[in-house]
Amino acid sequence: MLLKKGSRGKDVQTLQRVLHLLDDGIFGTLTEEAVKEFQKSHGLKVDGIVGNETWAAICGSNLIKSKRVINEIIVHCSATAEGKDFTVADITRWHKQRGFTTIGYHYVIYRDGSVHTGRDINVSGAHCTGHNSHSIGICYIGGCKSDGLSPKDTRTEAQKAALLNLLRQLRTLYPTAKIRGHRDFANKACPSFDATTEYKTI
Ligand SMILES: [Zn+2]
Repeated sequence: MLLKKGSRGKDVQTLQRVLHLLDDGIFGTLTEEAVKEFQKSHGLKVDGIVGNETWAAICGSNLIKSKRVINEIIVHCSATAEGKDFTVADITRWHKQRGFTTIGYHYVIYRDGSVHTGRDINVSGAHCTGHNSHSIGICYIGGCKSDGLSPKDTRTEAQKAALLNLLRQLRTLYPTAKIRGHRDFANKACPSFDATTEYKTI
């Protein structure tokens, strides 16, 4: 990966979405400044150039391949109200209250598009009954209207971009794994959109 001032295209657009910029796909001065800010805040070399290290941080993708056999990648939502931020620590607390050892998901995508790791990728998740041992669980923050109950696809543009990127990267690690939504396996609305259809070409 190498994106720098003057670069153009889809990857630049993704970068811009994650950085909350106008996603015109043209790496200009504003994008360069935002990259430098991002690098500074993430302890990376501040050069305004998106190489592998910065790209990995941007996609939250210090991805480690699981030692488990993975044949499904299952997308969830946190079933929380739109516009509200929650963290891995919050979900860990909720899941412990439900009797889990820790957070049930392996990755969590915040509203700002940052990707965070949850449960150890080598350990079965606790997110989809009957499917946990051979799957990876990804959760985006949101999924409900402001009442906190009614299902709604609340993904921000940054979340959509980050989710797409994460799935693409997971696809390279697990080429035969099927990408599904929780609702494909349970009588639930989660993740409040049709993940199977949306990601069928990944
Ligand atoms: Zn779910």
